[in-house]
Amino acid sequence: MKLTFLGTGAAEGVPSPFCDCPTCIFARIYGGKNIRRRQSVLINDNLLVDIGPDLFVSCAQLGVTLLSLEGVLVTHNHLDHFAPANLTLRAKPFRLATELPDIAVVAGPSVWAAWDAGGGSDHGAGIRRMPILPGRTVRLPSYSIEAIEASHNMRVGDAMNYIVKAGDAALLYASDTGLYAEHVWEKLKGHYFDAVVMEGTILTRSSGREHLNRDDFGLMLAKLRGIGAIDDSSVIAATHFSHQGVNSFEETEAIVKELGAICAYDGLVLEILGAPNP
Ligand SMILES: [Zn+2]
Ligand SMILES: [Zn+2]
Ligand SMILES: [Zn+2]
Repeated sequence: MKLTFLGTGAAEGVPSPFCDCPTCIFARIYGGKNIRRRQSVLINDNLLVDIGPDLFVSCAQLGVTLLSLEGVLVTHNHLDHFAPANLTLRAKPFRLATELPDIAVVAGPSVWAAWDAGGGSDHGAGIRRMPILPGRTVRLPSYSIEAIEASHNMRVGDAMNYIVKAGDAALLYASDTGLYAEHVWEKLKGHYFDAVVMEGTILTRSSGREHLNRDDFGLMLAKLRGIGAIDDSSVIAATHFSHQGVNSFEETEAIVKELGAICAYDGLVLEILGAPNP
């Protein structure tokens, strides 16, 4: 399983054009890995996790196409994860030279409500809608996808994280979320993950219910380890950083390394080797 990090920033990206905090000032001066587009991950070349506002610039800058997509997973209806216009731009009038099959879009009720309210056309965009709720599993040609309840966007209540399996490789995609509820941990028992992509939105902040800070990130890993869901062979990547919750890339990477994880940056590619589940 190949993971390409198209964007690794939270809602406003880094630097936010409306912010002059030290992190944003530093990112403007030094650029490079300090610049974070809104979060999205491409799995292999055919499964996109979240379709946010920076899709165009991510693909253009990284030389990535989405011609082979078989599906899109949407975690929740926040602007950095679901930008309906980017689905609409898949419609035939915007790619006259290119024939594409319909793709599956796996998303919760509030995403579909936003798509419908904005006049989104399934037929126009060439999508097959696959509504999902926490606890449900859907299958795409190359993937099995199980939704788990995220501790995020609680006012609405349908934010999801995903367990994505392809062949022998299993991934836990844990963003956006705060600490999981107890019943979610019960559901995770018996799983083993070759890779975990987990948010570190507010790494340097003291607390936050719907995102993970440094202590919570460590706690999530300890709990995953405790139930045997990860071990030393698992690849852990931290992503979804807010300018209001991290400093420079280097400082963020130092914290993340201490926690036993890889600090994702825009353009990072990870190859995950799956092992038969124990
Ligand atoms: Zn987000
Ligand atoms: Zn800022
Ligand atoms: Zn969110």
